Amino acid sequence: MKIDVITLFPEIIRSVLEYGILNRAIDRQLLRVNLHQLRDFANDRHQTVDDYPYGGGAGMVLKPEPIFAAVHALNPGSETRIIFLTPQGKRLTQHCVETLSLESHLILICGRYKGIDERVRTKLVTDEISIGDYVLSGGEVAAQVLIDAISRVLPNAMNDYRSAQEDSFSQDLLDHPHYTRPVEFEDMRVPDVLLSGHHQNIEQWRYDQSVARTIQRRPDLIRQP
Ligand code: SAM
Repeated sequence: MKIDVITLFPEIIRSVLEYGILNRAIDRQLLRVNLHQLRDFANDRHQTVDDYPYGGGAGMVLKPEPIFAAVHALNPGSETRIIFLTPQGKRLTQHCVETLSLESHLILICGRYKGIDERVRTKLVTDEISIGDYVLSGGEVAAQVLIDAISRVLPNAMNDYRSAQEDSFSQDLLDHPHYTRPVEFEDMRVPDVLLSGHHQNIEQWRYDQSVARTIQRRPDLIRQP
């Protein structure tokens, strides 16, 4: 899978590629992430990428020409998903992450300032994704979130793929509680069932805990029949 990111601040994204599962996915050549400096696609000698909004008002808008040039330089195929990260997009979910992980080529466009010229949206963008109902100063953190979440569900990126399948949201449930050594800490003891060695009972306890947590914290995740 290849992910091309168009951004004014590639360094913000680069840092996250160097750690953990994401780094391993890149090392194992399951994922290629290319960062592209938007300024390199500006067509004037000042490398201008933004301008004042028509109609007035505060803040700058990213110009269409450099974004069009950047996307065209990446040779998107008919299958390429061209994603604009925006608070106005569809909310990112685990299901959406899993669907995107099956694609072979994504292009992510990171906005800045007031956002991007609407004509980029109209002509180029295939998907708009938001990471939540709040406004960030740029799309880079949202791109980090998306790339990280995708890397975890790529087959063979995790040493034990079942681990990702057991995480919250994968089965429309939140994850169960976890304990590690010591058995007793500040008068709190690890539940006996986890020490029993009885795998069936442990699985049942974990499932019951997941269901109870989901009902308590996120009843909206439980599918109605
Ligand atoms: N004026 C825009 C609006 O109200 O919809 C917000 C612009 S924001 C300050 C600058 C850029 O940050 C956006 O173009 C987008 O790329 C990114 N961004 C901000 N919040 C985001 C979110 N919740 N999810 C994804 N991207 C976000």
